[in-house]
Amino acid sequence: MSRLPSLFVSHGAPSFALEPGLAGAGLTALGRALPRPQAVLVVSPHWMAPTPRVGTALQPQTLHDFGGFDPALYQLSYPARGHPALAQRTVERLNQAGWPAQASERRGLDHGAWVPLMHLFPAADVPVFQVSLPSRLDAGRAWALGQALAPLAGEGALIVGSGSLTHNLDEFCSGQGQEEAYAAAFAAWVREAVEQGDRDRLLRTLDDAPQARRAHPTPEHFWPLLVAAGAADQAQPVRVIEGGIVDGVLAMDAYAFGLAARGVAAATA
Ligand code: ZN
Repeated sequence: MSRLPSLFVSHGAPSFALEPGLAGAGLTALGRALPRPQAVLVVSPHWMAPTPRVGTALQPQTLHDFGGFDPALYQLSYPARGHPALAQRTVERLNQAGWPAQASERRGLDHGAWVPLMHLFPAADVPVFQVSLPSRLDAGRAWALGQALAPLAGEGALIVGSGSLTHNLDEFCSGQGQEEAYAAAFAAWVREAVEQGDRDRLLRTLDDAPQARRAHPTPEHFWPLLVAAGAADQAQPVRVIEGGIVDGVLAMDAYAFGLAARGVAAATA
């Protein structure tokens, strides 16, 4: 089996489920262009634990793990099945790589997983399971987690790091909706690092990028990008899926590591 790409997706706010915009359309086109995976492996900051947990449920529940949003969002479900065998294989791979991972039979899908998947695979016909984000990470460890997961990309897993390219919740909640220039500047800096395949620069993002602390007052929504990049074949190209900026402060770009640009162009032509 050939190796699947790995993805970073911005899941933005839960309302992304009902308001796809540019990012949603881009993910749907991407989903059509990708080789069909056996399962999607999602790492989301809405499931954090000291050491990795892997969801092994056969039919994971849709978790509405957010408050104060449109009531219609709480009616949504994403009925994809799990993939217990590949999830168990993930536990083994992580243990082999020195991460003390455990299976979690009851865990459902948090909104960091199912909201972007509603756009990526709208038919919910690709099995999904999650890997929790370790609660104490730094850039190097986030990358190493991706490297530990990387062999699974050769065993049918589409590795998805789901975060948000910018994620200032205070500004999201209090903002007037006008676009803040810092979000675009931060997104452009990261995009350049990703497109150049500049690992060192990417690892230094939260120290060096313009307004990094404003873009990520806490780092948990940034780490999934490093997990996805760490899981990638570094020799392969990166495809940027532009998502623009929503609600003034949420940059919504996604990246497909290891997917040639022509892959998407061919599918959308
Ligand atoms: Zn989130």
